Amino acid sequence: MNPANEPSFRDSVDLMFNRAVALMDLPPGLEEKIRVCNATYTVRFGVRLRGRIHTFTGYRSVHSEHMEPVKGGIRYSMAVNQNEVEALAALMTYKCALVEAPFGGSKGGLCIDPRDYDEHELELITRRFAYELIKRDMINPAQNVPAPDMGTGEREMAWIADQYKRMNTTDINGVACVTGKPINAGGIQGRTEATGRGVQYALHAFFRDPEGMKKAGLTGKLEGKRVIIQGLGNVGYHAAKFLSEEDGAKITAIIERDGALHDQDGLNVEAVHKWIEKHGTIKGYADAKFEEDGAKFLEAECDILIPAALEGVINLSNAERIQAPLIIEAANGPVTAGADEVLRKKGIVIVPDMYANAGGVTVSYFEWVKNLSHIRFGRMQRRAEESRHQLVVDELERLSADKELGWTLSPNFKEKYLRGAGELELVRSGLDDTMRTAYEAMAHVWHSRDDVDDLRTAAYLVSIAKVAASYHAKGL
Ligand code: NAD
Repeated sequence: MNPANEPSFRDSVDLMFNRAVALMDLPPGLEEKIRVCNATYTVRFGVRLRGRIHTFTGYRSVHSEHMEPVKGGIRYSMAVNQNEVEALAALMTYKCALVEAPFGGSKGGLCIDPRDYDEHELELITRRFAYELIKRDMINPAQNVPAPDMGTGEREMAWIADQYKRMNTTDINGVACVTGKPINAGGIQGRTEATGRGVQYALHAFFRDPEGMKKAGLTGKLEGKRVIIQGLGNVGYHAAKFLSEEDGAKITAIIERDGALHDQDGLNVEAVHKWIEKHGTIKGYADAKFEEDGAKFLEAECDILIPAALEGVINLSNAERIQAPLIIEAANGPVTAGADEVLRKKGIVIVPDMYANAGGVTVSYFEWVKNLSHIRFGRMQRRAEESRHQLVVDELERLSADKELGWTLSPNFKEKYLRGAGELELVRSGLDDTMRTAYEAMAHVWHSRDDVDDLRTAAYLVSIAKVAASYHAKGL
Protein backbone atom coordinates (compact mmCIF):
# COMPACT_ATOMS: atom_id res chain seq x y z
CA MET A 1 0.00 0.00 0.00
CA ASN A 2 2.98 2.33 0.33
CA PRO A 3 3.06 5.02 -2.37
CA ALA A 4 5.13 4.20 -5.44
CA ASN A 5 7.90 6.70 -4.71
CA GLU A 6 8.51 5.30 -1.24
CA PRO A 7 10.08 2.08 0.05
CA SER A 8 7.76 -0.92 0.34
CA PHE A 9 6.10 -1.67 3.67
CA ARG A 10 8.71 -4.31 4.49
CA ASP A 11 11.61 -2.01 3.54
CA SER A 12 9.97 0.68 5.67
CA VAL A 13 9.95 -1.65 8.70
CA ASP A 14 13.57 -2.63 7.99
CA LEU A 15 14.63 1.02 7.72
CA MET A 16 13.15 1.75 11.13
CA PHE A 17 14.80 -1.40 12.51
CA ASN A 18 18.17 -0.34 11.04
CA ARG A 19 17.91 3.11 12.58
CA ALA A 20 17.53 1.54 16.02
CA VAL A 21 20.07 -1.21 15.58
CA ALA A 22 22.73 1.35 14.61
CA LEU A 23 22.51 2.57 18.20
CA MET A 24 23.12 -0.91 19.61
CA ASP A 25 26.19 -3.04 20.03
CA LEU A 26 25.04 -6.46 18.83
CA PRO A 27 27.43 -9.36 18.11
CA PRO A 28 28.43 -9.45 14.40
CA GLY A 29 25.74 -11.00 12.22
CA LEU A 30 23.04 -11.10 14.87
CA GLU A 31 21.45 -7.94 13.52
CA GLU A 32 20.83 -9.61 10.16
CA LYS A 33 19.58 -12.82 11.80
CA ILE A 34 16.97 -10.84 13.72
CA ARG A 35 15.94 -8.64 10.78
CA VAL A 36 15.33 -11.25 8.09
CA CYS A 37 12.14 -13.20 7.72
CA ASN A 38 12.80 -16.92 8.33
CA ALA A 39 10.28 -18.35 5.88
CA THR A 40 7.20 -17.46 3.88
CA TYR A 41 4.87 -20.09 2.57
CA THR A 42 2.67 -19.29 -0.41
CA VAL A 43 -0.32 -21.47 -1.15
CA ARG A 44 -2.74 -21.49 -4.07
CA PHE A 45 -5.85 -23.56 -3.64
CA GLY A 46 -9.14 -24.05 -5.39
CA VAL A 47 -12.66 -23.95 -3.99
CA ARG A 48 -15.77 -24.83 -5.98
CA LEU A 49 -18.24 -21.94 -5.69
CA ARG A 50 -21.20 -20.90 -7.81
CA GLY A 51 -20.62 -23.81 -10.24
CA ARG A 52 -16.93 -23.22 -10.98
CA ILE A 53 -13.55 -23.54 -9.32
CA HIS A 54 -12.09 -20.34 -7.89
CA THR A 55 -8.36 -20.19 -7.14
CA PHE A 56 -7.16 -18.23 -4.10
CA THR A 57 -3.67 -17.18 -3.02
CA GLY A 58 -2.69 -17.15 0.64
CA TYR A 59 0.47 -16.65 2.69
CA ARG A 60 1.81 -17.54 6.09
CA SER A 61 5.09 -15.94 7.00
CA VAL A 62 7.29 -16.78 9.99
CA HIS A 63 9.63 -13.97 10.85
CA SER A 64 11.37 -15.25 13.95
CA GLU A 65 11.27 -18.50 15.92
CA HIS A 66 13.41 -17.36 18.84
CA MET A 67 10.30 -18.29 20.83
CA GLU A 68 7.58 -20.75 19.85
CA PRO A 69 4.80 -20.86 19.03
CA VAL A 70 5.00 -17.99 16.61
CA LYS A 71 2.00 -15.70 16.57
CA GLY A 72 0.25 -13.26 14.28
CA GLY A 73 -3.09 -12.55 12.66
CA ILE A 74 -4.61 -13.68 9.38
CA ARG A 75 -5.74 -10.84 7.14
CA TYR A 76 -8.33 -10.98 4.35
CA SER A 77 -7.77 -8.18 1.86
CA MET A 78 -7.13 -7.70 -1.85
CA ALA A 79 -3.93 -5.83 -0.96
CA VAL A 80 -2.37 -8.88 0.71
CA ASN A 81 0.98 -9.89 -0.81
CA GLN A 82 4.24 -11.46 0.32
CA ASN A 83 5.89 -8.13 1.08
CA GLU A 84 3.01 -7.01 3.29
CA VAL A 85 2.76 -10.30 5.16
CA GLU A 86 6.51 -10.32 5.84
CA ALA A 87 6.44 -6.73 7.13
CA LEU A 88 3.54 -7.58 9.43
CA ALA A 89 5.29 -10.77 10.63
CA ALA A 90 8.41 -8.75 11.51
CA LEU A 91 6.30 -6.26 13.46
CA MET A 92 4.80 -9.20 15.38
CA THR A 93 8.26 -10.33 16.50
CA TYR A 94 9.10 -6.87 17.87
CA LYS A 95 5.61 -6.40 19.34
CA CYS A 96 5.61 -9.71 21.24
CA ALA A 97 9.09 -9.01 22.62
CA LEU A 98 8.10 -5.50 23.71
CA VAL A 99 5.01 -6.62 25.66
CA GLU A 100 6.65 -9.84 26.86
CA ALA A 101 4.24 -12.22 25.15
CA PRO A 102 6.35 -15.39 24.80
CA PHE A 103 5.98 -15.81 21.05
CA GLY A 104 7.95 -15.40 17.85
CA GLY A 105 6.47 -13.32 15.04
CA SER A 106 4.28 -14.56 12.21
CA LYS A 107 1.49 -13.30 9.96
CA GLY A 108 -0.85 -14.66 7.35
CA GLY A 109 -3.04 -13.31 4.64
CA LEU A 110 -5.49 -14.32 1.98
CA CYS A 111 -5.88 -12.24 -1.15
CA ILE A 112 -9.66 -11.86 -1.11
CA ASP A 113 -12.31 -9.21 -0.57
CA PRO A 114 -14.59 -10.86 2.01
CA ARG A 115 -17.48 -8.62 0.95
CA ASP A 116 -17.64 -10.48 -2.35
CA TYR A 117 -18.75 -13.75 -0.68
CA ASP A 118 -21.62 -14.91 1.49
CA GLU A 119 -21.09 -16.56 4.85
CA HIS A 120 -21.22 -20.12 3.58
CA GLU A 121 -18.73 -19.39 0.81
CA LEU A 122 -16.39 -17.69 3.27
CA GLU A 123 -16.57 -20.74 5.51
CA LEU A 124 -15.60 -23.04 2.64
CA ILE A 125 -12.70 -20.77 1.66
CA THR A 126 -11.49 -20.33 5.26
CA ARG A 127 -11.64 -24.05 6.03
CA ARG A 128 -9.71 -24.88 2.86
CA PHE A 129 -7.04 -22.24 3.60
CA ALA A 130 -6.81 -23.55 7.19
CA TYR A 131 -6.50 -27.13 5.89
CA GLU A 132 -3.53 -26.14 3.71
CA LEU A 133 -1.79 -24.46 6.66
CA ILE A 134 -2.65 -27.12 9.27
CA LYS A 135 -1.29 -30.00 7.23
CA ARG A 136 2.08 -28.20 7.14
CA ASP A 137 2.02 -27.38 10.89
CA MET A 138 1.58 -23.69 10.08
CA ILE A 139 -1.40 -23.71 12.40
CA ASN A 140 -0.61 -25.64 15.55
CA PRO A 141 -0.95 -24.82 19.29
CA ALA A 142 2.76 -25.49 19.87
CA GLN A 143 4.16 -23.98 16.70
CA ASN A 144 2.05 -21.35 15.01
CA VAL A 145 -1.07 -19.70 16.43
CA PRO A 146 -3.00 -17.24 14.22
CA ALA A 147 -5.53 -14.61 15.36
CA PRO A 148 -7.90 -12.14 13.67
CA ASP A 149 -6.69 -9.17 11.66
CA MET A 150 -8.20 -6.93 9.02
CA GLY A 151 -11.17 -8.61 7.34
CA THR A 152 -11.35 -11.53 9.79
CA GLY A 153 -12.91 -11.91 13.24
CA GLU A 154 -14.09 -14.49 15.74
CA ARG A 155 -16.27 -16.27 13.19
CA GLU A 156 -13.27 -17.15 10.99
CA MET A 157 -11.23 -18.14 14.06
CA ALA A 158 -13.98 -20.57 15.16
CA TRP A 159 -13.92 -22.19 11.69
CA ILE A 160 -10.13 -22.52 11.84
CA ALA A 161 -10.23 -24.06 15.34
CA ASP A 162 -12.90 -26.51 14.25
CA GLN A 163 -10.94 -27.44 11.13
CA TYR A 164 -7.87 -28.13 13.27
CA LYS A 165 -9.92 -30.32 15.63
CA ARG A 166 -11.27 -32.33 12.69
CA MET A 167 -7.73 -32.99 11.49
CA ASN A 168 -6.25 -33.60 14.97
CA THR A 169 -8.99 -35.37 16.84
CA THR A 170 -6.81 -36.49 19.77
CA ASP A 171 -4.98 -33.22 20.42
CA ILE A 172 -6.33 -32.22 23.83
CA ASN A 173 -4.88 -28.70 23.35
CA GLY A 174 -6.30 -28.32 19.87
CA VAL A 175 -8.45 -25.30 20.67
CA ALA A 176 -5.26 -23.34 21.46
CA CYS A 177 -4.30 -23.52 17.74
CA VAL A 178 -5.84 -20.09 17.14
CA THR A 179 -6.92 -17.14 19.31
CA GLY A 180 -9.66 -14.56 18.99
CA LYS A 181 -12.34 -17.26 19.06
CA PRO A 182 -15.89 -16.67 20.28
CA ILE A 183 -16.45 -17.44 23.99
CA ASN A 184 -18.47 -20.56 23.24
CA ALA A 185 -15.67 -21.93 21.06
CA GLY A 186 -12.84 -21.53 23.59
CA GLY A 187 -12.38 -17.76 23.45
CA ILE A 188 -11.74 -15.38 26.31
CA GLN A 189 -13.74 -12.42 27.60
CA GLY A 190 -12.36 -9.13 26.36
CA ARG A 191 -10.50 -10.41 23.25
CA THR A 192 -12.74 -8.68 20.70
CA GLU A 193 -12.29 -5.31 22.37
CA ALA A 194 -8.63 -5.98 23.28
CA THR A 195 -6.75 -4.03 20.60
CA GLY A 196 -8.97 -0.94 20.97
CA ARG A 197 -8.84 -1.27 24.74
CA GLY A 198 -5.05 -1.47 24.49
CA VAL A 199 -5.02 1.77 22.47
CA GLN A 200 -6.98 3.41 25.30
CA TYR A 201 -4.56 2.05 27.95
CA ALA A 202 -1.60 3.18 25.85
CA LEU A 203 -3.03 6.71 25.82
CA HIS A 204 -3.61 6.53 29.58
CA ALA A 205 0.05 5.55 29.99
CA PHE A 206 1.12 8.43 27.73
CA PHE A 207 -1.01 10.96 29.62
CA ARG A 208 0.63 9.80 32.89
CA ASP A 209 4.07 10.68 31.47
CA PRO A 210 4.67 14.43 32.00
CA GLU A 211 7.87 14.42 29.94
CA GLY A 212 6.15 12.71 27.02
CA MET A 213 3.23 15.15 27.24
CA LYS A 214 5.66 18.05 27.22
CA LYS A 215 7.42 16.70 24.14
CA ALA A 216 4.04 16.52 22.36
CA GLY A 217 3.06 19.97 23.64
CA LEU A 218 -0.07 18.59 25.30
CA THR A 219 -1.43 19.43 28.73
CA GLY A 220 -4.25 18.22 30.96
CA LYS A 221 -6.30 15.07 30.65
CA LEU A 222 -7.86 13.05 27.87
CA GLU A 223 -11.21 14.60 28.69
CA GLY A 224 -12.18 17.11 26.01
CA LYS A 225 -9.26 16.23 23.72
CA ARG A 226 -10.18 16.26 20.01
CA VAL A 227 -9.56 12.89 18.39
CA ILE A 228 -9.65 11.97 14.70
CA ILE A 229 -9.84 8.29 13.89
CA GLN A 230 -9.37 6.49 10.58
CA GLY A 231 -11.19 3.15 10.25
CA LEU A 232 -14.19 2.20 12.38
CA GLY A 233 -13.52 -1.53 12.25
CA ASN A 234 -12.72 -3.74 15.21
CA VAL A 235 -9.76 -1.69 16.47
CA GLY A 236 -10.98 1.80 15.58
CA TYR A 237 -14.52 1.28 16.86
CA HIS A 238 -13.46 0.01 20.28
CA ALA A 239 -10.75 2.64 20.70
CA ALA A 240 -13.12 5.48 19.71
CA LYS A 241 -15.93 4.10 21.87
CA PHE A 242 -13.84 3.78 25.04
CA LEU A 243 -12.07 7.11 24.57
CA SER A 244 -15.35 8.99 24.08
CA GLU A 245 -17.65 7.12 26.47
CA GLU A 246 -15.21 6.47 29.33
CA ASP A 247 -12.56 9.20 29.05
CA GLY A 248 -14.67 12.06 27.72
CA ALA A 249 -12.55 12.61 24.59
CA LYS A 250 -14.34 14.15 21.57
CA ILE A 251 -14.23 12.14 18.36
CA THR A 252 -14.30 15.06 15.94
CA ALA A 253 -13.92 13.00 12.74
CA ILE A 254 -14.28 9.39 11.63
CA ILE A 255 -12.60 8.59 8.33
CA GLU A 256 -13.89 5.51 6.52
CA ARG A 257 -13.24 4.02 3.09
CA ASP A 258 -16.08 6.02 1.52
CA GLY A 259 -15.55 9.42 3.12
CA ALA A 260 -15.49 11.07 6.53
CA LEU A 261 -18.03 12.17 9.12
CA HIS A 262 -17.11 15.17 11.22
CA ASP A 263 -18.47 17.31 14.04
CA GLN A 264 -16.39 19.61 16.24
CA ASP A 265 -18.68 18.85 19.20
CA GLY A 266 -17.91 15.15 18.96
CA LEU A 267 -19.57 12.25 17.13
CA ASN A 268 -21.69 9.53 18.71
CA VAL A 269 -19.45 6.54 17.99
CA GLU A 270 -22.05 3.92 18.85
CA ALA A 271 -24.64 5.52 16.56
CA VAL A 272 -22.17 5.76 13.65
CA HIS A 273 -21.11 2.15 14.17
CA LYS A 274 -24.73 0.95 14.15
CA TRP A 275 -25.32 2.95 10.97
CA ILE A 276 -22.34 1.31 9.22
CA GLU A 277 -23.47 -2.15 10.36
CA LYS A 278 -26.90 -1.58 8.91
CA HIS A 279 -26.03 0.28 5.70
CA GLY A 280 -22.45 -0.84 4.98
CA THR A 281 -21.36 2.80 4.54
CA ILE A 282 -21.13 6.05 6.49
CA LYS A 283 -23.04 7.83 3.71
CA GLY A 284 -26.48 9.02 4.70
CA TYR A 285 -25.73 9.31 8.43
CA ALA A 286 -27.73 12.35 9.39
CA ASP A 287 -26.20 13.57 12.66
CA ALA A 288 -22.87 14.78 11.28
CA LYS A 289 -21.34 16.55 8.31
CA PHE A 290 -20.08 14.34 5.49
CA GLU A 291 -16.95 14.85 3.39
CA GLU A 292 -16.31 12.75 0.29
CA ASP A 293 -12.52 13.15 0.42
CA GLY A 294 -12.14 11.45 3.79
CA ALA A 295 -8.35 11.18 3.81
CA LYS A 296 -8.02 14.96 4.00
CA PHE A 297 -9.15 14.70 7.64
CA LEU A 298 -5.84 13.05 8.45
CA GLU A 299 -4.48 16.57 8.00
CA ALA A 300 -7.15 18.35 10.06
CA GLU A 301 -6.52 20.10 13.35
CA CYS A 302 -6.95 17.86 16.39
CA ASP A 303 -5.10 16.77 19.54
CA ILE A 304 -4.78 13.06 18.78
CA LEU A 305 -4.79 11.29 15.41
CA ILE A 306 -5.53 7.56 15.42
CA PRO A 307 -4.97 5.76 12.11
CA ALA A 308 -6.75 2.41 12.66
CA ALA A 309 -7.22 1.09 9.13
CA LEU A 310 -4.37 0.54 6.67
CA GLU A 311 -0.63 0.85 6.31
CA GLY A 312 1.10 3.71 4.51
CA VAL A 313 -1.72 6.26 4.90
CA ILE A 314 0.61 8.91 6.30
CA ASN A 315 3.33 9.17 3.71
CA LEU A 316 5.51 11.70 1.92
CA SER A 317 2.47 13.08 0.09
CA ASN A 318 0.73 14.35 3.25
CA ALA A 319 3.20 14.16 6.18
CA GLU A 320 4.17 17.82 5.94
CA ARG A 321 0.52 18.88 6.37
CA ILE A 322 -0.29 16.71 9.43
CA GLN A 323 -1.31 18.97 12.31
CA ALA A 324 -1.95 16.54 15.18
CA PRO A 325 0.71 16.86 17.89
CA LEU A 326 0.22 13.20 18.85
CA ILE A 327 -0.32 10.19 16.57
CA ILE A 328 -1.10 6.80 18.02
CA GLU A 329 -0.67 4.00 15.50
CA ALA A 330 -3.60 1.66 16.11
CA ALA A 331 -3.08 0.14 12.64
CA ASN A 332 0.13 -1.61 11.66
CA GLY A 333 2.52 0.55 9.67
CA PRO A 334 0.25 3.56 9.01
CA VAL A 335 3.26 5.91 8.84
CA THR A 336 5.93 5.21 6.21
CA ALA A 337 9.62 5.49 7.11
CA GLY A 338 9.88 8.69 5.05
CA ALA A 339 6.86 10.27 6.71
CA ASP A 340 8.17 9.22 10.12
CA GLU A 341 11.25 11.35 9.53
CA VAL A 342 9.19 14.36 8.39
CA LEU A 343 6.89 14.09 11.42
CA ARG A 344 9.79 13.76 13.86
CA LYS A 345 11.33 16.93 12.44
CA LYS A 346 7.99 18.68 12.94
CA GLY A 347 8.06 17.64 16.62
CA ILE A 348 5.04 15.37 16.29
CA VAL A 349 5.10 12.51 18.79
CA ILE A 350 4.22 9.04 17.46
CA VAL A 351 3.17 6.20 19.74
CA PRO A 352 4.37 3.32 17.53
CA ASP A 353 2.26 0.44 16.24
CA MET A 354 4.33 -2.30 17.86
CA TYR A 355 3.26 -0.87 21.21
CA ALA A 356 -0.03 0.89 20.48
CA ASN A 357 -1.87 -2.10 19.01
CA ALA A 358 -0.25 -4.79 21.17
CA GLY A 359 -3.46 -5.22 23.19
CA GLY A 360 -4.66 -7.83 20.70
CA VAL A 361 -1.70 -10.15 21.01
CA THR A 362 -1.56 -9.61 24.77
CA VAL A 363 -5.12 -10.86 25.28
CA SER A 364 -4.50 -13.58 22.67
CA TYR A 365 -1.68 -14.72 24.94
CA PHE A 366 -4.14 -14.89 27.86
CA GLU A 367 -6.56 -16.86 25.68
CA TRP A 368 -3.84 -19.34 24.66
CA VAL A 369 -2.88 -19.83 28.33
CA LYS A 370 -6.56 -20.30 29.23
CA ASN A 371 -6.92 -22.94 26.50
CA LEU A 372 -3.82 -24.83 27.63
CA SER A 373 -4.88 -24.75 31.27
CA HIS A 374 -8.45 -25.75 30.38
CA ILE A 375 -9.97 -23.45 32.99
CA ARG A 376 -11.51 -20.01 32.93
CA PHE A 377 -9.53 -17.26 34.70
CA GLY A 378 -10.96 -16.45 38.13
CA ARG A 379 -12.92 -19.69 38.46
CA MET A 380 -10.97 -20.98 41.47
CA GLN A 381 -10.42 -17.77 43.41
CA ARG A 382 -13.43 -15.55 42.75
CA ARG A 383 -15.72 -16.76 45.55
CA ALA A 384 -12.81 -17.13 48.03
CA GLU A 385 -11.93 -13.50 47.33
CA GLU A 386 -15.55 -12.47 47.87
CA SER A 387 -15.73 -14.32 51.21
CA ARG A 388 -12.63 -12.54 52.48
CA HIS A 389 -14.04 -9.19 51.36
CA GLN A 390 -17.29 -10.06 53.13
CA LEU A 391 -15.33 -10.30 56.41
CA VAL A 392 -14.03 -6.76 55.95
CA VAL A 393 -17.46 -5.42 55.00
CA ASP A 394 -19.08 -7.09 58.07
CA GLU A 395 -16.46 -5.51 60.29
CA LEU A 396 -16.91 -2.07 58.73
CA GLU A 397 -20.69 -2.34 59.05
CA ARG A 398 -20.32 -3.26 62.71
CA LEU A 399 -18.13 -0.18 63.28
CA SER A 400 -20.40 2.16 61.32
CA ALA A 401 -23.34 1.02 63.46
CA ASP A 402 -21.53 2.63 66.38
CA LYS A 403 -23.13 6.10 66.45
CA GLU A 404 -20.27 7.54 68.54
CA LEU A 405 -17.75 6.93 65.77
CA GLY A 406 -20.10 8.83 63.48
CA TRP A 407 -19.08 7.45 60.07
CA THR A 408 -20.91 5.50 57.41
CA LEU A 409 -19.95 3.49 54.37
CA SER A 410 -20.16 5.32 51.05
CA PRO A 411 -22.98 4.25 48.79
CA ASN A 412 -21.88 1.51 46.34
CA PHE A 413 -18.79 0.65 48.40
CA LYS A 414 -20.23 -2.64 49.57
CA GLU A 415 -21.42 -3.70 46.16
CA LYS A 416 -18.18 -2.76 44.44
CA TYR A 417 -15.84 -4.16 47.06
CA LEU A 418 -17.71 -7.43 47.45
CA ARG A 419 -17.56 -8.33 43.77
CA GLY A 420 -14.66 -10.72 43.12
CA ALA A 421 -12.85 -10.31 39.81
CA GLY A 422 -14.28 -12.37 36.94
CA GLU A 423 -12.51 -13.19 33.71
CA LEU A 424 -13.19 -9.84 32.03
CA GLU A 425 -11.83 -7.83 34.99
CA LEU A 426 -8.74 -10.05 35.14
CA VAL A 427 -8.12 -9.75 31.41
CA ARG A 428 -8.43 -5.96 31.54
CA SER A 429 -6.17 -5.81 34.57
CA GLY A 430 -3.54 -7.97 32.86
CA LEU A 431 -3.77 -5.85 29.72
CA ASP A 432 -3.49 -2.59 31.65
CA ASP A 433 -0.45 -3.89 33.52
CA THR A 434 1.18 -5.01 30.25
CA MET A 435 0.58 -1.66 28.55
CA ARG A 436 1.91 0.29 31.55
CA THR A 437 5.03 -1.86 31.90
CA ALA A 438 5.87 -1.72 28.21
CA TYR A 439 5.30 2.05 28.12
CA GLU A 440 7.62 2.58 31.05
CA ALA A 441 10.34 0.49 29.37
CA MET A 442 10.06 2.53 26.14
CA ALA A 443 9.73 5.89 27.87
CA HIS A 444 12.78 5.21 30.01
CA VAL A 445 14.91 4.80 26.88
CA TRP A 446 13.22 7.78 25.17
CA HIS A 447 13.82 10.16 28.04
CA SER A 448 17.21 8.94 29.24
CA ARG A 449 19.25 8.57 26.05
CA ASP A 450 20.46 11.63 24.16
CA ASP A 451 20.72 9.65 20.92
CA VAL A 452 17.04 8.57 21.02
CA ASP A 453 14.52 11.25 20.18
CA ASP A 454 11.40 9.22 19.46
CA LEU A 455 9.28 6.47 20.96
CA ARG A 456 9.56 4.20 17.92
CA THR A 457 13.34 3.95 18.13
CA ALA A 458 12.98 3.43 21.90
CA ALA A 459 10.47 0.63 21.31
CA TYR A 460 12.77 -1.07 18.79
CA LEU A 461 15.72 -0.79 21.19
CA VAL A 462 13.77 -2.46 24.00
CA SER A 463 12.39 -5.24 21.83
CA ILE A 464 15.54 -5.99 19.80
CA ALA A 465 17.49 -6.27 23.06
CA LYS A 466 14.97 -8.87 24.26
CA VAL A 467 15.10 -10.88 21.03
CA ALA A 468 18.93 -10.72 21.10
CA ALA A 469 18.98 -11.91 24.72
CA SER A 470 16.76 -14.80 23.77
CA TYR A 471 19.09 -15.83 20.90
CA HIS A 472 22.05 -15.45 23.26
CA ALA A 473 20.40 -17.77 25.79
CA LYS A 474 20.02 -20.35 23.00
CA GLY A 475 23.75 -20.13 22.35
CA LEU A 476 23.44 -18.39 18.98
P1 NAD B 1 -11.26 -4.33 10.35
O1 NAD B 1 -11.35 -5.04 9.06
O2 NAD B 1 -12.15 -4.74 11.46
O3 NAD B 1 -11.47 -2.77 10.15
C1 NAD B 1 -10.80 -1.99 9.20
C2 NAD B 1 -11.64 -0.74 8.98
O4 NAD B 1 -10.92 0.17 8.14
C3 NAD B 1 -12.97 -1.04 8.30
O5 NAD B 1 -14.00 -0.35 8.97
C4 NAD B 1 -12.77 -0.51 6.89
O6 NAD B 1 -13.97 -0.09 6.27
C5 NAD B 1 -11.82 0.65 7.15
N1 NAD B 1 -11.07 1.03 5.94
C6 NAD B 1 -10.63 0.26 4.94
N2 NAD B 1 -10.02 0.98 4.02
C7 NAD B 1 -10.06 2.26 4.43
C8 NAD B 1 -9.61 3.50 3.91
N3 NAD B 1 -8.97 3.54 2.73
N4 NAD B 1 -9.83 4.61 4.63
C9 NAD B 1 -10.47 4.57 5.80
N5 NAD B 1 -10.93 3.44 6.35
C10 NAD B 1 -10.74 2.30 5.68
O7 NAD B 1 -9.71 -4.43 10.77
P2 NAD B 1 -9.09 -4.29 12.22
O8 NAD B 1 -8.98 -5.65 12.80
O9 NAD B 1 -9.75 -3.19 12.97
O10 NAD B 1 -7.60 -3.84 11.84
C11 NAD B 1 -7.25 -2.49 11.55
C12 NAD B 1 -5.74 -2.33 11.71
O11 NAD B 1 -5.37 -2.72 13.04
C13 NAD B 1 -4.89 -3.18 10.77
O12 NAD B 1 -3.71 -2.48 10.46
C14 NAD B 1 -4.54 -4.39 11.63
O13 NAD B 1 -3.34 -5.03 11.22
C15 NAD B 1 -4.36 -3.71 12.98
N6 NAD B 1 -4.47 -4.62 14.12
C16 NAD B 1 -5.61 -5.35 14.35
C17 NAD B 1 -5.68 -6.18 15.46
C18 NAD B 1 -6.93 -6.94 15.82
O14 NAD B 1 -6.96 -7.52 16.92
N7 NAD B 1 -7.96 -6.97 15.01
C19 NAD B 1 -4.58 -6.30 16.31
C20 NAD B 1 -3.44 -5.55 16.06
C21 NAD B 1 -3.40 -4.70 14.96
